[in-house]
Amino acid sequence: MTKKKPVRLRPYYKTRYAYEKLRVCKHCGAYTVLWEDKCANCGRLALIPVMNQARINAKRSMQNERLIALAMTLIAVLFSQTFLQIVSCLLGGIALTVLLWRFQRKMLEPETRRQLNRLLRSSERRIIEGIYLNLTTASAAIRDDEQLGYEILREIATIVHNDRIRLQQIMLLQSFMLRKDMELVLEPLMLENFEPALAEYIGELAKIKRELIKHQAIRYVLAYEHEILHMKNGENIMTAVAGATVRMKTYVDAYPEFILRYARKLPKDRYLRLYRLVRRNPNQSWNGLRDEVSAIYNEKYRWDPEFQNWE
Ligand SMILES: [Zn+2]
Repeated sequence: MTKKKPVRLRPYYKTRYAYEKLRVCKHCGAYTVLWEDKCANCGRLALIPVMNQARINAKRSMQNERLIALAMTLIAVLFSQTFLQIVSCLLGGIALTVLLWRFQRKMLEPETRRQLNRLLRSSERRIIEGIYLNLTTASAAIRDDEQLGYEILREIATIVHNDRIRLQQIMLLQSFMLRKDMELVLEPLMLENFEPALAEYIGELAKIKRELIKHQAIRYVLAYEHEILHMKNGENIMTAVAGATVRMKTYVDAYPEFILRYARKLPKDRYLRLYRLVRRNPNQSWNGLRDEVSAIYNEKYRWDPEFQNWE
């Protein structure tokens, strides 16, 4: 592996819905998930969030409805025979249009959502083309600016969920020096199959961001334990994950045999954590884990002052 680079990733803005990351060009209708100012397709400064485009569409369709109502009023007036008919058609038509307008004002939000659905459904092909263009930008960036490449892929991944993009992100992350204060994620990057880079990444997170190691990651390293142990750094990865697993009792309840297999290799602080957990739950044997923890204590830490006042 080449030397890891220090990076400072730009902040990642989480949105409630994936489509909120999508922007559309008002001029040519091209889509993007990136943060560029100019449309990559036509070069104009005309990119707006899809939600805004949906609101524009909703307002336009409502305006058309009002125009139809007014046109019908006008036609009725034209066909009127008496003055009274003219006046009543005019007043009736105007009153109906005002009512319609008031109703539409209340319906703007639901209508916008309906228009958004329509827009997304009818633009599926254009969205895919746009993301494809984004991907081309990403692969160009990856060659000379891995950080930018990763940031672009991270945006694309909010819309496109596939293993190729996940793997590319993992590979890029593995070329960075990861730090505790970085906005790192694990679950969105999880793969089904065994992938050494993912195992490495999990092992690294288990050291710097233990809170990201949850059931899914633990099950992953357990499913591929054999393969991981064949990696150069494999035993360290498994030990680091075991060390992260002792973070919470629920994980110890779920994976006692796993922790037992690596308990002896745990660094002191992780073992201390496990030791305290075991002491706090005197009625649990955890399939032999309790005995193993006692044995390790007797062999290695019996005289260690840190283990004396553990409460
Ligand atoms: Zn455009």
